[in-house]
Amino acid sequence: MSPWLKAPWHLILKGLQSASPPHAWCLAHASAVFSDSLTDHLAQSLLCDTPKKGEPCGECVSCRFPDPHPDILSLGPEGAAGMIKIDAVREAIEVAYTTASMAGCRVIVVRPADCLNQAASNALLKVVEEPPSGTVFIFQTSVPGKLLPTLVSRLRMVRVPVPTPQIFEKTAQSLGINGEDLLLSDALLAQPTAAQTAPERLALGRDVLDALVRIRFGEDSQVLLKPFGKVDMLTASTVMERICDQLIRVQFKQTSQNPITAALSAPYPSVRLLYQYKERVSEVRTQAQAGIAVNSDLALGSLFAAWAFIWATV
Ligand SMILES: [Zn+2]
Repeated sequence: MSPWLKAPWHLILKGLQSASPPHAWCLAHASAVFSDSLTDHLAQSLLCDTPKKGEPCGECVSCRFPDPHPDILSLGPEGAAGMIKIDAVREAIEVAYTTASMAGCRVIVVRPADCLNQAASNALLKVVEEPPSGTVFIFQTSVPGKLLPTLVSRLRMVRVPVPTPQIFEKTAQSLGINGEDLLLSDALLAQPTAAQTAPERLALGRDVLDALVRIRFGEDSQVLLKPFGKVDMLTASTVMERICDQLIRVQFKQTSQNPITAALSAPYPSVRLLYQYKERVSEVRTQAQAGIAVNSDLALGSLFAAWAFIWATV
């Protein structure tokens, strides 16, 4: 976890260890890139079979379960309007009343929560007021003021600060990682210390971002594909998904400047095209995750070509 997230995490830990832990959280932040990892960490801690003082153990079946965890339900914006749809909310509520797949609880992540419309907010309000046992909600937003006040009053609010450049540099130094790598690995892999813990994943992430930027500026995708050879498609597709997420969020003003939005500047392909593209990437990621051998040459080749296509519409 990034060091500047430690203060809000301690607040969360206090709540988790209290006599009546909250069943609905709201993480309010200025930068989605930094808060995503806090939301994910909280979800992991809630689902862990043997948490240690509120921290996920990292070893149980739940902690080691590859993404997406069967007991995490994510609600996010859909379609050209970029709203969280009432149908998706209703589905999530139905699931909330069923038993969790694994032994622990069930977590419903609403991110970004300000994309809830009135009807969806009202539907959620009812279930947040009287939640089924074992279900915990995490709302994440950069504009808590846009949420329904009655809903906000039911949530445990945690403010997530953005590190000042000085604190950021100091932290990077103390970790022995350069600031640029720290930011980049947080943005691409949600793993700020990847430069030390998974340097090969960071290197691949950097190469993928670099190729996508070059394709965006008109270079031939099939030429850029050549140096890749056989690659870890799980990492490549994870990075591509996160890039799509950031380009979608930036169009809803849901994110601040980060290495992805800095490298891929506006104008952007439409949100609808980005969602369609992300779906293709997700298919590849699901296969790679399930251990199905993915021909990385073919998969990456087709994703690169499709990337060139969506930018051609800009
Ligand atoms: Zn665990």
